[in-house]
Amino acid sequence: MFDYIDIHSHLNFPDFDKDRGDVIKKMTDEKIGTICVGADLKTSRECVELANKYKNIWATIGVHPNDGMEDFNKRDYLKLVENKKVVGIGECGLDYFRIKEELEIEKKRQKILFEKQIQFAIQNNLPLMIHCRDLPHRSFTEAGAYEDILEILNFYKKGNPELKGNVHFFIGDKEIAKKFIDIDFTISFSGVITFANNYNETIKYVPINKIMADTDSPFVAPAPFRGKRNKPLYIKEIVKKIAEIKNLDIEIIKKQMVQNAISVFSLGSH
Ligand SMILES: [Zn+2]
Repeated sequence: MFDYIDIHSHLNFPDFDKDRGDVIKKMTDEKIGTICVGADLKTSRECVELANKYKNIWATIGVHPNDGMEDFNKRDYLKLVENKKVVGIGECGLDYFRIKEELEIEKKRQKILFEKQIQFAIQNNLPLMIHCRDLPHRSFTEAGAYEDILEILNFYKKGNPELKGNVHFFIGDKEIAKKFIDIDFTISFSGVITFANNYNETIKYVPINKIMADTDSPFVAPAPFRGKRNKPLYIKEIVKKIAEIKNLDIEIIKKQMVQNAISVFSLGSH
């Protein structure tokens, strides 16, 4: 039914206001689906609204670690989460990259925000859509954002073995990838892998049943579309690159990645 599923996009953004319908029509023609990812209450609502309108769009709801410094108030999300097209919680996680001051206080705030959403995901039996970015120049004596996320997930995983999710726009190394896979999380790679070689080793390492692709549209378009507005249609370039790096037949990778998305986010079962 689908050839590609872009598991993380922001089709609700104003960047698509002029031609959203056309982009989605092309996606339908090319058998491409996407998960529209909320980053605060307003955008979560927008994503659910879009998902309700189109068969090939699903939604996640939640609060990004730094977007708007908004809190996650459970009662605001209770009504949204009942919607059958809501397939995950997030994007949530930790982002140390953009912290300007009061590092420790801000880290703490982000961790609390993340934990609220993990608890909500557990209560609603939904997977997490995780966002993670490290400090630009972190000292290697302290734990980075990936390590902190792993510590929190490992804690919750103990009492809730069914907790699962995906780490989107993955830019960690092989060792970090292994730790997520060990707790049954998947990893998705973005357009950067089409123009930077730094991630090849990690991509080779991640088993094909644990790997996915995401565009993070409208951000970071893959080659050969660099600098342009990104769109879920460009997911094809990222999947092609993963097949190349893993030296596997593109048709096998395509099928497996659609299967992975369906299984992690239970797409179509609602
Ligand atoms: Zn995003």
